[in-house]
Formats: sequence, C-alpha cells, structure tokens
Amino acid sequence: MSSPTRVLVLNSGSSSVKYQLLDMRDSSRLAVGLVERIGEQTSRLKHTPAGGESRERGGAIADHDAALKAVAEELAKDGLGLDSPELAAIGHRVVHGGKSFTEPTVVDDAVLAEIERLIPVAPLHNPANLTGIRTAQSLRPDLPQVAVFDTAFHTTMPESAARYAIDVETADAHRIRRYGFHGTSHAYVSRTTAELLGKDPSEVNVIVLHLGNGASASAVRGGHCVDTSMGLTPLEGLVMGTRSGDMDPAVIFHLMRVGGMSADEIDTLLNKKSGLIGLCGDNDMREIRRRVDEGDERAELAFDIYIHRLKKYIGAYYAVLGRVDAVAFTAGVGENAAPVREAALAGLEELGLAVDGERNAVRGDGARLISPEGARVAVAVVPTDEELEIATQTYALVNGSGNHT
Ligand code: AMP
Repeated sequence: MSSPTRVLVLNSGSSSVKYQLLDMRDSSRLAVGLVERIGEQTSRLKHTPAGGESRERGGAIADHDAALKAVAEELAKDGLGLDSPELAAIGHRVVHGGKSFTEPTVVDDAVLAEIERLIPVAPLHNPANLTGIRTAQSLRPDLPQVAVFDTAFHTTMPESAARYAIDVETADAHRIRRYGFHGTSHAYVSRTTAELLGKDPSEVNVIVLHLGNGASASAVRGGHCVDTSMGLTPLEGLVMGTRSGDMDPAVIFHLMRVGGMSADEIDTLLNKKSGLIGLCGDNDMREIRRRVDEGDERAELAFDIYIHRLKKYIGAYYAVLGRVDAVAFTAGVGENAAPVREAALAGLEELGLAVDGERNAVRGDGARLISPEGARVAVAVVPTDEELEIATQTYALVNGSGNHT
C-alpha cells in the first residue's frame, strides 16, 4: 500500500477545537470544522466536508474528549474516520514551546512534560493544547502526534532581541524573555512572500505584519526571524483588538498603588479591555472604519494610535534588517483593510515603501503585490494559512523530509 497522505490539524483552545483534515498530495482540505463552547450546555459542532453541505450538532459537549469523539464521528460519516489507514499523523498547534522547541516535534512523554512545564508562561493556552494532544493520543495511540509551536519560528532571534534589559539572574530564574507568537503564520507568510517575488527565502528580508484580532510584526532575514513584537506573552507590541501592546510597565504599578487594582484585574484590563476596544469600544476594523467615515472622533483616534504604533514597528524593523525586500500584510485586518495598509506606509516613500492605490483597493484571495510597478521594496498582501503550515510541517516530519521553516 502507498504511504498515508492525510494529516489532521487540531487547534485546541480552552473551550473550543478547530480542525482541518488535509490531503498532503495536493494540500487540499477534505473537511474543516469547529467545536465551540465545550463544557457548556450550548456547545456546537460545525463540520464541513469538501464539496458538501455543512452539518451542525448542538447540545452539551462535556469536555475535549467528548469533542474529539464527536469530530471523529462526523469525519467517519464522510468516510474520513480517524481509524483510516490514510491518516499519516495528527498535527497540533501548541502556543508556547519556550526556548527548547525550535522545530515541530513528535510528541512523547518527555515532550508532554516540557509543554506542561511551560504552563506558567502560557496559562491560558498550553493546558488546552495538552488536553487536545492527550485526547488525540487516546483515540489513535499508534499514530504520530506532532506538536507545532507558535514560538518555534522566533527561536532564531539573537539574544539582543530576545532578552529584556532586566537583571539576568531574575530573568533566567523565571524564564522571562521574549518568545514571540504567531510564528507559524510568520513562517508561512515570509516564505510565501519570497515565492511571490520568485526568490528563495534565504535571499530576501521581509517585514511581516500579522494584523488580526491579535497582532504582531516580525523582521525576517533570509528566512530566519531576527525580531518580533510579541514577548513573554502576546501582550507586547502592536495595538491589537483588545490588547494594549507596548506600554510603560510603570502603568501597572500605578494601577496597583494608586488605582487599587489587583494583578488579575490589570491582566484582564490590558489583555481584554484595551487596544482598539478600550480606545473606542469596537475591536472590529470594519466597524471602526465605518465610524471614521462618519466622522466619529474616538474611532479616528483609535485608528490613528493603531497606525502610529504599526508605523513605528515598520521603521524599527527596517533599521534592524538594514535592507528590506518586502513588507507583507496578513490576517483579518492585514488581508482585508486597504485603509490600514495605505495609512501604515503613507509618507515612507523615502524608504522605498509605497502602496499603489488601485492595486491596494482590489480584493483577492491569493498572495498579491500592492506596491507600484518597479518599487524598490515590494509590498504584498499574503493570506495566512496556519493550518496548511502545521500540516506541511507535520507531514514533512513524519515523512522524514525535515521541515520547511
Ligand atoms: P483574525 O484574528 O485574523 O481572524 O482577524 C479578525 C479581525 O480582522 C476582525 O476583528 C476584524 O477587525 C478584521 N477584519 C476581518 N474582515 C475585515 C474586513 N473585511 N475589513 C477590515 N477588517 C476586517
């Protein structure tokens, strides 16, 4: 029999599981789906087989074990059951891999223990990712389970970018350093940008702007990350949908001492009630642009603060890289919000950076250039595809052909 070619990608959150089953012969999706509100009475599973109608299930889905069993049942109805000999591996998104995981890794007990050891630096994500892996292991103990880490692409950052300027012993004792996140997306988008330019990733320097509800920038030199805007946690860096991004850390002491707030309250404030939603009450860029067009001043200020921070990172990473071949916009805002792309690069012509108005306005599904003809620095819109990247890395690992990052 020919070797199996299917990879199931699982992205397990605290109360959700997103999944895709891919056939790696042509990277096609055989099925995609989502289980939401796990542990509540109103859980929902939405499953869509390729070329078929979506199916939904309601009612209580008690835990991840029940969720994955329900997913397996839905896949089986389409002849794509987890017991299929066609299934080569299950690839798991794992948010925090710390310093140790620099590449996708086949899961064994030691790997599970290390992911568990990293829970203090990723308390929201790693426990859910672990549950997803353990549940998948119990369903197919014979199958390779591969962990693909959000932090792995950033482990090439030099110490000068990865360390905070705080006491070294204290930092090391608590594993405090800049890890970066969205690495799977930054890896995929920087490589796809090189392809768009007809070059090998080793030949190009790219600034990747992943602008979704969470947002991060990275500086990628010759295919390797040399700096990224998120840090110990995803809170650092750009203005995001609900996160503040960069801030004087003394704001926190001030809120504790003068504002009487607890650490947990400040955590919630900065992660969930700040950024665009804190500034203007909306975190959806479509709504913010609609309000700006109506002359709403709070929305305008929120937009301006968002763009100001973005522009600072573009400038900073230009300086870090020295030579920039491309700036790539990706994720919900980066792929769809032409006014954000235009404003972020406005006035940077001296750096060879410009957006062509007509190209920027065109909507499209694939990777495309939006810089003027003959521009010194290419500006690209590159739809991210984290599931494909996880599947590609997983398949490459179990097939013994190395990974693509
Ligand atoms: P993501 O986290 O990558 O799924 O991105 C989600 C965010 O993308 C949403 O919160 C919106 O702010 C933004 N977004 C999605 N579609 C559009 C659009 N057509 N125009 C502007 N922003 C969009």
